[in-house]
Amino acid sequence: MAKLGLFDTKVPRYTSYPTAPQFRNDVSGDIFANWIEEITPGSSISLYVHVPFCRTLCWFCACRTQGTQSDAPVKAYLEVLKAELALLRARLPKGVTLSRLHWGGGTPTLLRPSMMQELAGLIASIAPFATNAEFSVEIDPNEIDEPRLDALAAAGMTRASIGVQDFDPEIQKTIGRIQSFEVTRDAVDMIRARGITSLNADILFGLPHQTRERMTTSVQKLLSLQPDRVALYGYAHVPWMAKRQQLIPSEALPTPQERLELYETGRKLFLCDNYAEIGIDHFATADDGLTIAHKAGALRRNFQGYTDDTSDVLIGIGASSISRFPQGYAQNTSATAAHTKAIRDGQFSTTRGHVFVGEDRLRARLIEALMCDFRIDAGEIRQRFGVGQAKIDAMFEAANQAFPGILNIGNSALSIPVDARPLTRIIARSFDAYDLSEAGHSSAI
Ligand code: SF4
Repeated sequence: MAKLGLFDTKVPRYTSYPTAPQFRNDVSGDIFANWIEEITPGSSISLYVHVPFCRTLCWFCACRTQGTQSDAPVKAYLEVLKAELALLRARLPKGVTLSRLHWGGGTPTLLRPSMMQELAGLIASIAPFATNAEFSVEIDPNEIDEPRLDALAAAGMTRASIGVQDFDPEIQKTIGRIQSFEVTRDAVDMIRARGITSLNADILFGLPHQTRERMTTSVQKLLSLQPDRVALYGYAHVPWMAKRQQLIPSEALPTPQERLELYETGRKLFLCDNYAEIGIDHFATADDGLTIAHKAGALRRNFQGYTDDTSDVLIGIGASSISRFPQGYAQNTSATAAHTKAIRDGQFSTTRGHVFVGEDRLRARLIEALMCDFRIDAGEIRQRFGVGQAKIDAMFEAANQAFPGILNIGNSALSIPVDARPLTRIIARSFDAYDLSEAGHSSAI
C-alpha cells in the first residue's frame, strides 16, 4: 500500500463532491435564496447551526473558532442567528419540517440556557420537527452543566456528540486540551439522566506521544461510556494552516506506519466489542441508525461524516456554514464580522459554493458509494444517471489500471477488498474530475 501513496498522499475526506477547496465565488446570496424557494413545499430538510466560539482554543483543533471568556460576543452572535433565521423564514416554502437539526461549532454549549431556549423556539416556529426527527448537539464536557442540559432536553435534543481525542494526560497536555475521563463520564451521566440516550463520540489517532498501549487504554475508557457511534479520526497536523498547532512538537508525532497501527488498534477494539464498522472511520452499535442504514445500502456522506439522513436539502446557518441543495453547494462567508454585516444588511452572507454541472452528480455518487459501501453498483448508476454500461466499464478499467490487482471488478460492480480499505480515499480520488492538488487535504491514513 505504501507504493500507492497510503503513507505520503494528502487526499480529501470527501464529505462533499466537489470538495470545499473547489468552491468558487459564483454562488451568491441571491442564488442561495432562490434555491431555498425551490425546496418542495411540505418536504423535510436538515438544518445545521454553527456557533464559532470557544472558551479556550485547543492547540490541536483546526476549526475556525474564536476564543472568548465573556458572553458578549456570543449574545451578539445569537442576534445575528435570529436575523438569519428570519431571512430563512421569509424564503422557506410552506409546510417544510426538519428531519435533522444539528448545533455544532466551536462550542454550541457556550450558549446560556435562555439563549438555547430562544434559538430552539425560533427554529421550531420556522420549521417544526418531522416525525422521528433527530436533534443533535456537540457537547463540550468542560462547558456543560445541568441547567444547559435541561434547556437542550426541553428543546427536544435526542443525540449528544462529544469529542474525546485521547484520555491520556500527557497527550492532552501536549495537544492543549485537558478533559479528564471523570469530567467526560459525568457529562455523559448528566446527558443520559435527561433521557437523551443517543451518544456519539470522536476519538483521534495519530496524536503526539500516542502509543498502542495508550490508544488501547483510551478506547477501553471510551467503551465503558457505551457510545452508540464512534468516529475514529486521524489527527491532521497542518501547522502552516492551523497556527495553534505550531505549539505541538512535530517530533512527538507518530510516523505514518505507526498511525496505521494506531488506527488498527482502535478498530480491533471496537470490532471486539461488537460495534459494526461503518465506512472508513466510524463504528456503531447494532441498533444504531447508521448500522441500520449501512445494512440497507442507505448510508450517506455529509459534512459531519456519515449519516442516515436522506434529505436532499441541508441548510447551514451561521458563519462559514455550508448548505447543500439538489442544485449545488452554498457557503456563508467564514469571517464572523463579515457574516454579521451581511445579515444586518438584510442579506444572506453566501460568498462561495458550486453549481452542479456535467458529471458532478454522477461522480459525487460514485465517490459516496466507495466511501460508504466500498462498492459501486453498476446497475444503480445506470438507472439513476442514465449512463451506458460502456462508460461504466471505461471508468472501472481506468480505476483498475490506476490500482492494478487491488480492486474486484466485474460488469455489475467495482469493490474494494477488505485488505485494501485503508486506500479508499485514494481510490475515490481517481473518480474526482477536479484539481487533485493536495492543498487543504489530509493524510490518507
Ligand atoms: S476542540 Fe472544541 S473547544 Fe477546542 S478549539 Fe476546537 S472546537 Fe473549540
